[in-house]
Parts: sequence; structure tokens; C-alpha cells
Amino acid sequence: MKNVLYTCPFAPAEWMAAYGLKPMRIAPNPTREGITAGLCPFAAAFIHAACNTPARAVVATTVCDQMRRSPEIIESRCDRPVFLMNVPATWRTASSRNLYRDELARLGRFLETIGGSEPTQSHLVETMLHYDTMRATLRAAAGKVKSGDLSRAIAQLYRNGTIPDDLTAQEPSGAPLALAGGPLRSTDFEIFDLVEQAGGTIVLDATAGGEMTMASPFDREHLKNDPVGELADAYFGRIPHAMRRPNNQLYEYLNRQIVARGAKGLIYRRYQWCDTWHGETGRLKESLSRPVLDLAAGDDESDGAYVLTRIQAFVEMLK
Ligand code: SF4
Repeated sequence: MKNVLYTCPFAPAEWMAAYGLKPMRIAPNPTREGITAGLCPFAAAFIHAACNTPARAVVATTVCDQMRRSPEIIESRCDRPVFLMNVPATWRTASSRNLYRDELARLGRFLETIGGSEPTQSHLVETMLHYDTMRATLRAAAGKVKSGDLSRAIAQLYRNGTIPDDLTAQEPSGAPLALAGGPLRSTDFEIFDLVEQAGGTIVLDATAGGEMTMASPFDREHLKNDPVGELADAYFGRIPHAMRRPNNQLYEYLNRQIVARGAKGLIYRRYQWCDTWHGETGRLKESLSRPVLDLAAGDDESDGAYVLTRIQAFVEMLK
């Protein structure tokens, strides 16, 4: 069993894979176990999955306070090694980028304690190119295949290092919409189908874990000379997220891609008790050039009917 469970898009799969382990980014199943008022349903689902999915270890990050605290909860519930990776919120400075790079090295030392081996430079480069090539395929498919299929393909890449070979182009039908917000749990991918039932279609997945949070293409020259530095630049230096300070990059990305994909509105899906994404709601509504539907997702999976009704009303308004 070589699985290393994680969920944060700032934890590079290729780094863990290069150590001979199997990075497995999970879209956890929703759970009510351990849910208490104030705990984000995604964090609760991650904690539950961390103890109930076969794995050698878990990697969490400091992307938010709830995830920062998740290792102590996981360790109190099950006997499984957990690594907490610091991902600085401030990011446009050399010191924060160097801190992230140091965290990669620290993660590497942790991986060695659980059976991984430090990769040679050529093996690291080869592993990085494997992921880079698959991301390029997915990026090329964006806007041509159904966004739900693309998002599931991205999830597959980070779950097991492969992508489907049957991504077929399809003309979108229905009112084009963007989706943004927190990461999706396993059943949350149904939102793509719910939007279609409501007469719309998602043309951009800017959730934390969707296409927005894929690392940027590697600079091949830099990759050859300094693969770890290139990894830090492509992940830490490029991925937009609500936790970043400043987080203008998130708004620049959304505005640019919403126009490029022709989205008429944005579904903003955030979890109850998630301050990180909730804190952006007002600014999003003010700064985006499109209407925003604010959807607070709870821990109740029966809210599918409620979500469908809200989306139907939103789509009607946009027609
Ligand atoms: S959804 Fe929000 S609170 Fe939950 S894990 Fe993500 S950033 Fe943290």
C-alpha cells in the first residue's frame, strides 16, 4: 500500500510520485460523522476519509485554519502518519516562495520515513513531464468537452496519475455558466448534471481542485536545470485561490476566463463555515462582470432539490 492521501491543490502529486509513492488526491465522500457546528463539511469529509481510506500516510496543508487543525484530529482518531505542509498565504515574495520550496524538501524527508526514496534528478524530471503532458491534454480539452467530464478527468489525474482516453468534444447547450468556490466532495460533481437539468451548462470549473488550480505548464529549460524550483513556481507561483494574499490573481483569472468561455453568470459554491471562500462573496459580486449565484452548501445531501431550484431560477433570470 503506497497511497498518500491528500486534497490540497498546492501539494504536488509529481513530487510524491517521484518518491515512488502513490499520491491520491481524494474527493471525499460526504459524511455526518464528526460533524459539529462550525466545522466545514469538506474538512469533516477529508478527516473521515483520511482514517477510512487504505493509505500509508496523509498530507494536509495550511490552506485554511480547519485544514491546519486536521492533522491533530486525524491523529487522535487513527494511527496514521500525517504531514502538515505550510503553504504561505503571502506569495509574491522571494521569502514565501523559498519557504514553499523548503516545505517541498521537508515533505520529501517525510516521504522517506514512510518508505519513499529520494528521486534522482532525471527521475524527478521524467515524473514531472508525465504530469505536465497530461495537464496539457486536459488544458487543450477545456472549453471543448463537457466541463463535468473535464473536472472528473482532472480528479482522476490527481487520484491515480492517469486521464481518460475518451474525452470527446461536445457542443455546449444551455445557458453557459462558470462554477467557482470550495473543493468538491465525491457527490458534489452532480452539480454539473443539476445545472444541465436546469437548462444551463458549466463552461468553466474554477473550484479549488478544478481546472483553475492545475499547475501552470512547466518551463522546460528551467525544469531541466532546477526541477524543484520549477515545481515551486508552477504550483505556488501560479495557482489562484481565495486563501492567497493578495488574491487579485483569483479575480483576474475569473474575469478573463468568464469572458473567454462566454459564461453569462457564475455559480459560487461555498461551504457553510468556510471563512476562506465565504469572505470573497461580496467582492466577487462587486468585481465580476456577470451575475453571481451564491450557493452555501451544507452537510445535508438532501439539499440537491434546493440547489436545483436555486439554479433553475438563476438560469431563468439569465435567459
Ligand atoms: S472549503 Fe474552506 S474551510 Fe473547508 S477545507 Fe476548503 S478552504 Fe478550508
